[in-house]
Amino acid sequence: MSDFLVTSPSDRSPAVGVKTAALPLTVDGRSMLASIGLGVGGRARCWSVLPVSGGQFVHGSDNAVFGQWDALLAVMPSGKWTVVPGHAGEIIPGRLDDHVERLGAVARGEPRGPVQVDFDVSMACPSACSFCFSAPYRLTRQSGRILDGDLMLTLIRQWADGGVRVVRFDGGGDPLTHPRLPEALSLCAERGMRTAVLTSGDLLSESLLPRILAARTYLRVSLNAARDVTRWRMHGQRTRAFPVTSILSVVSALVRLREAEFGPGAGQVMPLGATSMIHPGNVAETTDIARLARDTGFDHISFRVILGNDHKVTFSEEQLVSLRAQFTEIRSSVAGPDFQVFLPTRDLTDTGYVPSEFFKACRASTHRAVVEVGSRPGRAAVVPCGRYRGEGYRSEVPDRPRVMFGELDGSTTVAEVHASPRSRRLLATFPDACGDCIDRSANTMLERIAELLHDAPGTEFHPLRTPGAAEGHAYA
Ligand code: SF4
Repeated sequence: MSDFLVTSPSDRSPAVGVKTAALPLTVDGRSMLASIGLGVGGRARCWSVLPVSGGQFVHGSDNAVFGQWDALLAVMPSGKWTVVPGHAGEIIPGRLDDHVERLGAVARGEPRGPVQVDFDVSMACPSACSFCFSAPYRLTRQSGRILDGDLMLTLIRQWADGGVRVVRFDGGGDPLTHPRLPEALSLCAERGMRTAVLTSGDLLSESLLPRILAARTYLRVSLNAARDVTRWRMHGQRTRAFPVTSILSVVSALVRLREAEFGPGAGQVMPLGATSMIHPGNVAETTDIARLARDTGFDHISFRVILGNDHKVTFSEEQLVSLRAQFTEIRSSVAGPDFQVFLPTRDLTDTGYVPSEFFKACRASTHRAVVEVGSRPGRAAVVPCGRYRGEGYRSEVPDRPRVMFGELDGSTTVAEVHASPRSRRLLATFPDACGDCIDRSANTMLERIAELLHDAPGTEFHPLRTPGAAEGHAYA
């Protein structure tokens, strides 16, 4: 400790030119910022310790603090700070630092490029859910639903070289229908990229688990039911081929393998998540779904509102009363320190927000690319975001141009597609052209971080939980 000196009250400012760093601390539940720099003789010196109002710091790795912060404390090199709204659901399973670093590079004039890619490698799915956002465009083609495997691997190599840090295999269809998905997961891991697989779970099998484990993939499974009959009904499976009980037994096996490999903190290394749509067909099982997910060993579950007019659902007054009572029960008796439950904060039949009231320009669509099966299996389409999924895939869009940035055949990068005149023209129409925005909170957070990094390069961002934080929030 002799190398560490706490400054006296009469000596609170470092000399001009002395660099300091802001260190977030929490002592006895109170958050404070310590200003640390090097003093005389190279000794570390604490120049000041100031209490932070407006929230509590959340300390830990990105996976460990997932779901626990709803804002960032942005500390500028001048020592001033401000609060930026946001939450970790926008970046899981990525790292906040990677996003800040990329936004900082763009603020310095470097070209935009994605730090995360949502990769829809297949438009095939064993389920046929009535509420599926993707079903209408998936069904416009009867063949060529799976991206060429060699192109998939080529793109992954390109992205690793181009600075992409996270690849989330999403849908479209179910990524587990792609026969070369295990290869893709291994390649991403070899190239230092984090991965996520968002799946219905229908095709989960124990043979896949070693690859998932080796890649430390964040697996997120859509449960939607606690009972097999409800699952079959919700997922439109007349053949009763994929019972939820079998899916959960594979997840249990993964939980055991994960613990054997990573020990008690396994959830921080490789989180496991579940989702469940809030639907009149499964309302009665809401608490049971949450309990089942917890008892299986998932780290969290997110109950989600069905968005948009196409699949709009309505609930009886009795169902709404039941749902509210179950949410209360879930909060008090199912959620806990080892099992987070995210409950919706928006109206159950919400059809969207007006994005321009929240942010000026769309950054989400270039910072987090969405790439899907394109006009044929040998081409991948770059679309702006999840809202425009299917625009690059569907065989035809009558009476209007497709809302997509361009296509990839392995010879062009996503960043080049984003920089094309077509993409620039399209980007300039967002967010007004969108009507609503499924990535509003991501855009709000990214825009504010980018502005701060532009105006005050070197600004640091620390996860914060504000007093008004909801117990659960919707996330991507
Ligand atoms: S909905 Fe529009 S504004 Fe929102 S992320 Fe997509 S393209 Fe951007």
